[in-house]
Amino acid sequence: DLPCEKYEYQAEVSRLMDLIVHSLYSNKEVFLRELVSNASDALDKLRFLSVTEPDLIKDAVDLDIRIQTDKDNGVITITDSGIGMTRQELVDCLGTIAQSGTAKFLKALKDSKDAGVDSNLIGQFGVGFYSAFLVSEKVVVSTKSPKSDKQYVWEGKANASSYTIREETDPEKLLKRGTRLTLYLKRDDKGFAHPERIQNLVKNYSQFVQFPIYTWQEKGFTKEVEIDEDPAEGEKKGENTDVEKKKKTKKVVERYWDWELANETQPIWLRNPKDVTTEDYNEFYKKTFNEYLDPLASSHFTTEGEVEFRSILFVPATKKDDIVNLKTKNIRLYVKRVFISDDFDGELFPRYLSFVKGVVDSNDLPLNVSREILQESRIVRIMRNRLVRKAFDMILGISLSDNKDNYDRFWENFGKNLKLGCIEDHANHKRIAPLLRFVSSQSEEELISLDEYVENMKPEQKDIYYIAADSLTSARNAPFLERLLQKDYEVLFLVDPMDEVAVTNLKSYKDKNFVDISKEDLDLGDKNEGKEEVKQEFSQTCDWIKKRLGDKVASVQISNRLSTSPCVLVSGKFGWSANMERLMKAQTL
Ligand code: ADP
Ligand code: MG
Repeated sequence: DLPCEKYEYQAEVSRLMDLIVHSLYSNKEVFLRELVSNASDALDKLRFLSVTEPDLIKDAVDLDIRIQTDKDNGVITITDSGIGMTRQELVDCLGTIAQSGTAKFLKALKDSKDAGVDSNLIGQFGVGFYSAFLVSEKVVVSTKSPKSDKQYVWEGKANASSYTIREETDPEKLLKRGTRLTLYLKRDDKGFAHPERIQNLVKNYSQFVQFPIYTWQEKGFTKEVEIDEDPAEGEKKGENTDVEKKKKTKKVVERYWDWELANETQPIWLRNPKDVTTEDYNEFYKKTFNEYLDPLASSHFTTEGEVEFRSILFVPATKKDDIVNLKTKNIRLYVKRVFISDDFDGELFPRYLSFVKGVVDSNDLPLNVSREILQESRIVRIMRNRLVRKAFDMILGISLSDNKDNYDRFWENFGKNLKLGCIEDHANHKRIAPLLRFVSSQSEEELISLDEYVENMKPEQKDIYYIAADSLTSARNAPFLERLLQKDYEVLFLVDPMDEVAVTNLKSYKDKNFVDISKEDLDLGDKNEGKEEVKQEFSQTCDWIKKRLGDKVASVQISNRLSTSPCVLVSGKFGWSANMERLMKAQTL
């Protein structure tokens, strides 16, 4: 068989290890979170595969994670009974950085250089397996995949450019299945090998891991032991030593070592919401999604009846990527508590709501569910409706809360998503519209809602007026405004490029139409007294102007929409507004 072989790391790996060690220096303990999460992933993968290949778990080894410490020698071992790795997988997974956690880390580092994010934040990203070298001078990974008859040992040292792989030959170290990591701690980091320290770290970092995590702890119990009376004393007193001895007892502490469960394995979404605190939800959210800020809102619910599922949804306080990111991995789908995938967001939420994070656990989907099944499933359609409704309830909750900053923050991050929703999800217009915010002629600084606009409407005012412009200044100075301001009508200033598209898709709010004040035939309900005469009087002038301008304008008309400006350029009733035209041009350029 193959002997111990030496491999060079992919070039980026050495650089990455360097970066990790330097940028996380003050946050070293994340290594445990990373290694436990890998163990948990490995158990998830095994459980998932065993659904279709029950033979994989025929060995009847429990699915768990065990952490043992040797404080005298500064050694930690982390053993999982998960999917393990073949020889080739060891090379692919631990010698290259194609893997997700580390790739995310690199991106975060790059972004943090651009944006000046402080290095503590980086600790919140998955940094993966190499974080073991934050505290270890040597790492040994012994692993047995069900796909292979052999167990292999990967061995790497800090600051090295190569690692080795050999077959495990020591019969004492053979695993039925899974992976054992042995960390030989650096001199200054040996403190991590204290059993209580590890127990605390596990409690802190891994309380939401779905598999039991045991740590090896010293325990003690007191017991009473009998002690013989000193026979010499008896003799002194001249008593017969053969008579029944008086029994005396004393308490002693018996010490022994045993596995102790360190985490709670009941998933938080299975608990009764009454028993879960906001802090619990926030912690769960931060741990599960590698977030550093509490969510703006959360919603924990169960649906019964036609389709049964449980879910906890969150609205993040920060925006990670573009307005819609197709590979968000924001929704973790479970079937009967088995983690299935975080790749199905698109099937469970429309893409404009892709920022919503959470877990969904269904009892009605098959364990071998695939994207294709999800797309066709009636159950999923019902789930999707429920999830979307809950997401809107959550957002509405933020908007109604006393803490105004929260909604401002939400709007700043995800306002564009809701505008996109106006375009893509007509069925939910009723839910989206009350959440929209605008500036207006009467509120240039503070955003207003459509409800506030409607409340502020004049008794005789029928429509909701807006003007789209590329800036507040040009909106404010538009001649179209004159008559409306004179009448004290409020006009929405649509200054975000997406505002106008959103509003034209909505068409109306509470039976009031959105009306673009820059379009021809704006009807302000004025009486047309004398207009005909004026029209007559100036008809020649209009003809003359039209002739001079030729094709540049469609027509030249008399209007009563101005009060001080002599003339204004308006858009045709069915044409694009000037703003839209600007947008379309910008897109085709
Ligand atoms: P990520 O977990 O984001 O993929 P890591 O650097 O943490 O990145 O891990 C790299 C890869 O190594 C994992 O994707 C997995 O394939 C493999 N791996 C790490 N630890 C284990 C383990 N305990 N059991 C099986 N595979 C593992
Ligand atoms: Mg990982």
